[in-house]
Amino acid sequence: MSVNYEQLAADGLEQIGANTSRGQLDQVAQQAAAAGWSYSHFLGRLLEPELAARRQRVIDTCMHFSGLPWIKRLSDFDFSFQPSIDRTLVEELVTGRFMSEGRNVIFQGPPGVGKTHLAIALGLVCSECGHRLLFLTALDLVRRMKTAFAQNRMPHYMKMLTTPKLLIVDEVGYLGLDTQQASLLFQVICIRYEKQLSTIITSNKAFAEWGHVFAGDPIMASAALDRLLHRATVINIKGDSYRMREKRQAGLFPGAVALEPQQKGASTKTKPSHK
Ligand code: ADP
Ligand code: MG
Repeated sequence: MSVNYEQLAADGLEQIGANTSRGQLDQVAQQAAAAGWSYSHFLGRLLEPELAARRQRVIDTCMHFSGLPWIKRLSDFDFSFQPSIDRTLVEELVTGRFMSEGRNVIFQGPPGVGKTHLAIALGLVCSECGHRLLFLTALDLVRRMKTAFAQNRMPHYMKMLTTPKLLIVDEVGYLGLDTQQASLLFQVICIRYEKQLSTIITSNKAFAEWGHVFAGDPIMASAALDRLLHRATVINIKGDSYRMREKRQAGLFPGAVALEPQQKGASTKTKPSHK
């Protein structure tokens, strides 16, 4: 059976939704005829932009629903300002392997040292791989939980927190949770642990203070930490706030022109998986 151009372009490519290939058909067919391409080479060149466009649509959708507040990349991060961070370890995280291993990442440290920046950089890697992620602050988590509870939509909300390939919970520890909120966070951690889905947490609190985060319940806190840290990379940042540096450089704090990192002790460690 012979296929004419209209059948191929309109009936074929359009019907299967290959609109990018459809748009490029003329050009690629002319190139193929002029250069005497093989059939498989022609097909490959016709499909290449279609596949690229589809990949991009998946990435755009992941980004759209990610909740990422800004775009922050590792290339924008000044490691020389924060010498306590093991750069090689962070560069390894940005390969995305931690997600295929279901490893968690915990960024700890005082305000302004780049915890959220690095968490977002890892989130971007996830969406660029075409995986779903959700970024939210601990405060968002609690607020949305209240709404979900009031609307009788808790199962839906739990699903939202426990199905993405990556969940980033930012600013854990700034506010203490009540018993119900702590129990929700605990359940989320347990379910994601069982499913081997990665979670990134940023916190200004040392693990010893997590009892406060979990409604003053040290048993729940230690059970949550046990799961979180079983397969985890902990990056403990000790240094000065980058925000303050920018303000001092702008002369907002008289007397201090440049700020040098003061605490240079490396305290970045990876807890080995012992499953
Ligand atoms: P934290 O979450 O630890 O409070 P952020 O990640 O929000 O800090 O960082 C505060 C601001 O400073 C952000 O705009 C971030 O991009 C920037 N920043 C922090 N550390 C660095 C760094 N080492 N290099 C470049 N920008 C940085
Ligand atoms: Mg932050």
